Amino acid sequence: MTAEPMRFCALLFAGDDKATPDITALTVARALADQSGTTAHALIVGPQRARALELAMPLGLNDIAVCSGMDARQPWQSGQILALLADMLIARPGGHAAASNVLYLVCADPLHEEIAARLAARLGAVPLGRIQSIGVEPSGVVTAARSAYGGRLRATQCVQPGPATASVRAGAAGTVDSAVAPRNPTTVHDIAVQIADGSAFEIVACSQAEIHAPVDGARIVVSGGRGVGDPAGFALLYDIALQLDGAVGASLPAVDAGLAPVARQVGQSGKYVRPDIYLAVGISGTPQHMAGIDPHTRVVAINADPEAPIFGMSRIGIVGDWKQILPALKRTLDE
Ligand SMILES: Cc1cc2nc3c(=O)[nH]c(=O)nc-3n(C[C@H](O)[C@H](O)[C@H](O)COP(=O)(O)OP(=O)(O)OC[C@H]3O[C@@H](n4cnc5c(N)ncnc54)[C@H](O)[C@@H]3O)c2cc1C
Repeated sequence: MTAEPMRFCALLFAGDDKATPDITALTVARALADQSGTTAHALIVGPQRARALELAMPLGLNDIAVCSGMDARQPWQSGQILALLADMLIARPGGHAAASNVLYLVCADPLHEEIAARLAARLGAVPLGRIQSIGVEPSGVVTAARSAYGGRLRATQCVQPGPATASVRAGAAGTVDSAVAPRNPTTVHDIAVQIADGSAFEIVACSQAEIHAPVDGARIVVSGGRGVGDPAGFALLYDIALQLDGAVGASLPAVDAGLAPVARQVGQSGKYVRPDIYLAVGISGTPQHMAGIDPHTRVVAINADPEAPIFGMSRIGIVGDWKQILPALKRTLDE
């Protein structure tokens, strides 16, 4: 029996922060549907859903379901969002049955990746993880490439039939051909679903008494590594980040040394950040660290070793000791 062609469905939680909703997954869904001649869909929940819908309409997806029955509770937890999305999957007209041949796409951030993993567990779907590039072969098989073993290997996974889930970055499936956009008049479904009490895990938030800006969503990240080996160095990084209206990040060894909280760790086992500028101080540039920085981010590196790999990945590289360079940078900013 021939499997039905794979369809693509983006899932988006448009959060209540001030950042513009990230419609990357919707763009990738559209690009994949164009490649395979099938359909692209989206489910949008969250307080900024109207803004997300506005951004999504020009993409020409086949249909978009927006959740209108909202529970105003905050902060939003992945379990609540997942419950809403799962209800919408069933409730939307022509809804996707759990077993249907659908690839569910989310953008590559910690919240959406958790949602994708939990949805995969719920649907019995294949969790493809954080994908670098994805495409559809003429046979209809979806091939998704991701990095493995800390960037030392590139693994290609094939999916047919679905369901499957994947988190994607901008351009993972190439660009949408704007000459044919909008291909479809998008149908918008307004679906009223509520979170049933007790449908989500209760997560107790613990205050870490953090007074500094979080690294998530920061436009400038000032990050320190093992080379900034003491608290005085990190104190300078916090001062500079504050002056630049940015946030402090750290490599794993800096976190392990107690120089920064784990919530600031950038990399494969830490946060994925997408600032405009990433100032890397005393960071060598290992694949595990760089895996946490968006390819579009401009990296500026300060390192004492002219052979440090990070210089190969930086727009601007400064060879020198941070003990000289950071105070000079701070003086310049003070002026
Ligand atoms: C499964 C796995 C997951 C991992 N996940 C992560 C992760 O999420 N994030 C992460 O960061 N790492 C992660 N790692 C660790 C990773 O492999 C590296 O060990 C780590 O990224 C190195 O951190 P670093 O660049 O701070 O330290 P180093 O590689 O030791 O680099 C320190 C740099 O500081 C420079 N330096 C020294 N003194 C000065 C000075 N005075 N002025 C200027 N520069 C100076 C040195 O030249 C050097 O380049 C992971 C590893 C594994 C195996």
